[in-house]
Amino acid sequence: MSVTLDDIRAASARIRGHVAETPLLRDDALSARLGQPVLMKCEYAQPTGAFKLRGATNAILSLGDARGVVTASTGNHGRALAHAARALGLPATVCLSRLVPANKVDAIRALGAQVRIIGDSQDQAMAEVARAVTDDGLTQIPPFDHADVIAGQGTIGLEIGQNGDWPDAVLVPLSGGGLAAGIAVAIKAISPATRVIGISMENGAAMAASLRAGHPVEVTEVATLADSLGGGIGLDNRLTFALCRDLLDGVLLVSEAEIAAAIRHLGQAGHMVEGAGAVGHAALLSAKFTPQGPTVTILSGGNIDPALHARLMEAAA
Ligand SMILES: *Cc1c(COP(=O)(O)O)cnc(C)c1O
Repeated sequence: MSVTLDDIRAASARIRGHVAETPLLRDDALSARLGQPVLMKCEYAQPTGAFKLRGATNAILSLGDARGVVTASTGNHGRALAHAARALGLPATVCLSRLVPANKVDAIRALGAQVRIIGDSQDQAMAEVARAVTDDGLTQIPPFDHADVIAGQGTIGLEIGQNGDWPDAVLVPLSGGGLAAGIAVAIKAISPATRVIGISMENGAAMAASLRAGHPVEVTEVATLADSLGGGIGLDNRLTFALCRDLLDGVLLVSEAEIAAAIRHLGQAGHMVEGAGAVGHAALLSAKFTPQGPTVTILSGGNIDPALHARLMEAAA
């Protein structure tokens, strides 16, 4: 089972009213500098601060009978699932290891999710998710490798061209590949000439390494400003690896300094984004990607520690 344009159109109708239709804004300074229009899809403006609300909402609305949903994500997917489940009146459970910092635990509780703290590794949290599925009858909603999640993220692709103007290129932050796969399915079906490029950080880019190897591989996780792009794609990946392999026109890697510069550039223009949300701009500002026509970047999230953001902005002065 894969994901089609029809699935994404259905997701778009399903999630309307439950998620924000985010603005597509022009970056005037960068457009002038590069001589081509640069447009930003502002997904940090979702109520949970990241696009993952689209996939989580579509997945929950596509469930038949369910007692509740469960995940082990502490990041933007965990937030999205908790928010969407509460909005739709379904219990959400988030399984965490003892290593997850208290402020993250509190943030998930504040969204109304039940928190289970189990063991001292992500693997043990994942094992608890599996137990909750078999013993408690909860439904796992994974962060990227799930058809309804991919279709939900793909609704961004429809919105990018909804006025009939399809760009020359779309630069998409790439981790597990749900976002890039969804956008690429939508765009390649409607505007095949539009290039869809995945952008990851140099440190620990699992999809980039997997595409190079020709099959899913594991990478060592390294600290990065683009923390939402960390983690693997799953050695048993079912959907996103093949979709990214078949549909992406390329993958580019950006350095930590390039990500920091992009966070600053966007901050100066009034867009507070996290590192993962700045990688498309990092590729443009570093000239790793040279636009040959109108180019869209996906500002995928804004959940950055405000103190870190302030430090990065000061470094610009
Ligand atoms: C999850 C996430 C991504 C990457 O999405 P994938 O579907 O895992 O590739 C990019 N940016 C932000 C802010 C995210 O939370």
